[in-house]
Amino acid sequence: MGYQVTSPVHRYLKQQQELFGDNLYLSSPDNIFAGVSQGENDKIDSLSDFNAEICHCQKCPLGKTRTNFVFGVGDPKANLMLVGEAPGEQEDMQGEPFVGRAGKLLDKILRAIGKYRDNDVYIANVIKCRPPNNRDPLPSEVEKCEPYLQRQIDLVKPKLIVALGRVAGKTLLKQDIPLKDMRGQTYDYSGTPLRVTYHPAALLRNPGLKAPAWEDFKLIRDFVNN
Ligand code: SF4
Repeated sequence: MGYQVTSPVHRYLKQQQELFGDNLYLSSPDNIFAGVSQGENDKIDSLSDFNAEICHCQKCPLGKTRTNFVFGVGDPKANLMLVGEAPGEQEDMQGEPFVGRAGKLLDKILRAIGKYRDNDVYIANVIKCRPPNNRDPLPSEVEKCEPYLQRQIDLVKPKLIVALGRVAGKTLLKQDIPLKDMRGQTYDYSGTPLRVTYHPAALLRNPGLKAPAWEDFKLIRDFVNN
């Protein structure tokens, strides 16, 4: 297996090797990372190192059936962290959460509140591998995988977590109640505020939910921006 490039330092050294061969012409670290603070570098390194550490996980049977492990994407210092239940078919194929039609709608909603998936937003799922036929994750799978999400939250330190959809909400809240009863409140998830709103796929299936979802996202915007 080839060398895996996992951090800005590794990427820089690899680039130097490709350009100059094995002779190393090092700039000072200040030049390499101009404009990026040490704290930000630490976060990028930590998330990327954590991804590399767990991306071959086989702690539950979903490791055997996945096409791709889906770690998460976005801004490592985001104030807003969006969490879905698990990768679907497109996410499994592309290795990225919230792609396909639902992902495009989510991007549109984010743009409407002045956010972008790579700027002040981090997106992940509770479960990192696709459950077959998009079934709900089993409690045993959640038990094995949720600590990975908790570690991502510790690293990103968002101001607010938003669970997208009933299954993500139920999993993070540890309460099996209808989604309409989960909305409209701010909860605590291991010390980080958490709100719950509709999954964008639900908005595609039922456009009547777009108005209440928009109300939720306006509150989310105000919470994160204040
Ligand atoms: S779903 Fe989570 S616990 Fe299961 S194999 Fe994938 S990464 Fe590991």
